[in-house]
Order: sequence, then structure tokens, then C-alpha cells
Amino acid sequence: MAFKLNYKGTIAYLTIPSFEETGLVKHGFSTRLGGVSSPPYHELNLGFKKEDDRKNVLENYRLFCEALDINQENLVASDQVHKDKIHVVTFEDRGKGIFKESDIKSTDSLITKDRQVALVTYYADCVPLFFLDVKTPAIGLTHAGWRGTVSKIGQKTVLKMMKEFGSIPKNILVGIGPCIKICCYEVDEPVVENIKRAFSYWDELIQERGKGKWMLDLVLVNKKQLEEVGISPENITESGFCTSCNNDLFFSYRKDKGQTGSLAAVLQLI
Ligand SMILES: [Zn+2]
Repeated sequence: MAFKLNYKGTIAYLTIPSFEETGLVKHGFSTRLGGVSSPPYHELNLGFKKEDDRKNVLENYRLFCEALDINQENLVASDQVHKDKIHVVTFEDRGKGIFKESDIKSTDSLITKDRQVALVTYYADCVPLFFLDVKTPAIGLTHAGWRGTVSKIGQKTVLKMMKEFGSIPKNILVGIGPCIKICCYEVDEPVVENIKRAFSYWDELIQERGKGKWMLDLVLVNKKQLEEVGISPENITESGFCTSCNNDLFFSYRKDKGQTGSLAAVLQLI
């Protein structure tokens, strides 16, 4: 089953049905609809790194949190750098990266087992990975672009949850959020060389287009590396959305030629 599109007031956002069924979390993946930012960040830009007014971004977070019924004081974000560092977030970290400067630096993956801590990661084409260990319980959010995917940040997040929280892979539900899919994600030789080095099954992941260009399946490669560490295929939900194909609904770095806002994933244990 794919992600579900919800509307609350002016805000549209996606949720993962299998996560909702557990009753353990509040969560959502934003769309660009319903915020206060002006072009090219219209409307619900959730990225502070853009040249958008900070006041607009804060108002957008307020609106998004209201829709998700999450206390915005619970939010915690890091700065993402396309590497493979994972941070164990605690209750004391709340507010970092949103209302005050974050000391969680150069980090693309956040995990926690504390309640009332709303993890935040942001996107515009890269792959969002949502994790929920239903037994511990514990959660994780991972930003995986092609570099993060090659460094196997998704796989490493599962291993870190096992080490830190005693999570067992068969108890972990995964959501793979909206991202640029194989229909639109054209890459050149340096990217393909990295894919070939990192994955023995690389030929399943790319389609040659000619003239030194390939199409890359970032969803499949993330799915396969999670299955390698024991995540059950039936516990993985794919969003069903390509950000570039659905530019009216999502910010897309490729489609908007770099002039765009940020989408956000938010996940919190109740
Ligand atoms: Zn597409």
C-alpha cells in the first residue's frame, strides 16, 4: 500500500498507513501546499538554508505541526551533508535546528527511543526513510541522496538501532517517502561508477540511456540494502510518488533547477 494523502485546513501531507495502524507515532511528509512562502519557495517551505524569510519558515512549521497534531517545541533537526553520520537524539535535544542552533552537525540520520521528540529531516528529491521499531519502541528518519545511498546510510541506521536500542529488524516498519524516481533521475558516469563499486547487483539499479547517461533507481537500491540487514519486504511501504513528476505537489531540486524549497519528514513517538 502506498502513502496516504491527507488534507487538514490548507495543508496537504502524506502519512504511512502501517505506521498509523500501530498507534505509536505521529508523523507526516509535507507537500508544498498550504504555507506562506513566496515563489520560488511557494508555499510550504520547511528549509532554513534557503533565502526564504526565517519568519515564513517558522510559520510553515507551525502550520505543518498543527496539521500533524505535534507540539512544535518537540522538533529536532540537524544539518544534512550527504554523509553517513547517525545521531541518537534525546529529549534534551528538543528545539535544536528549529528554534535554536543545532549542535547535531553533519548528520543525515536521526534515531531516538524517547517519547515527545519529533525528528525532522528535509528533502527536495533525495530519499526519505522512515523507521519504526514497534516493539522497543524506537524511531528513525534518514536522508538518503545518491551519496548517502552509496554509503548505505539506510542499512547503517538499522544497525545503529540494533546496537543502541536492541531493535530486531523483523520488528521494524519502513516507509520510503516521495523522491525522484527512476522515471526522472538521470545520472552520469561518476555516479554510476560509485553505484557499481558499492552494489554487486548494480545492473538491476540502472538503465542505460546512451550518450553517457543512465537512469538510477534510488528507491530499489535503498529497499534492497534494507532487506540485506533483515527488514521484511512486506514491512516496507513505498510512497508511490515521484517528486519531479509531481512538481505541483512537491518541491523538486531537479525540476525547479535548484530554485526551490524544502519538504520535511517528521516522526515522533507519542
Ligand atoms: Zn518521475
